[in-house]
Amino acid sequence: MPTAGERDTRTAIFRGLQLKCPSCGNGRILSGYLKVKDECDCCGQELLHASVDDGPAYFTLLVVVAIIFPMFGLIYSLFDPEPLWVALSMMALATVLALGILPRIKGLFIGLQWAKRLHGF
Ligand SMILES: [Zn+2]
Repeated sequence: MPTAGERDTRTAIFRGLQLKCPSCGNGRILSGYLKVKDECDCCGQELLHASVDDGPAYFTLLVVVAIIFPMFGLIYSLFDPEPLWVALSMMALATVLALGILPRIKGLFIGLQWAKRLHGF
């Protein structure tokens, strides 16, 4: 249980992954696909301090590669597919995964910054 002034990092990260305010867990933190709101609609927590830069993009790339790369080995060990179709389908899957994961990773970073009081939070 966090003491006064201390923020629970695990809860903040979990709320960020759900794209919820790290402070109250109710308001949404993004107004568009990746645009961070100035403040939470529910509790008024200022979110404009979030400064995640390229971190979520790099982390998303790491996660997508960790998922896609073993799939190549699995597909080629189980089947004898046409390489062009494998490449095209893996590119499509990687794109869908990256687009789905990126906002959540950004939320994770915002939650972590809020919990650690970074960048003026
Ligand atoms: Zn809030």
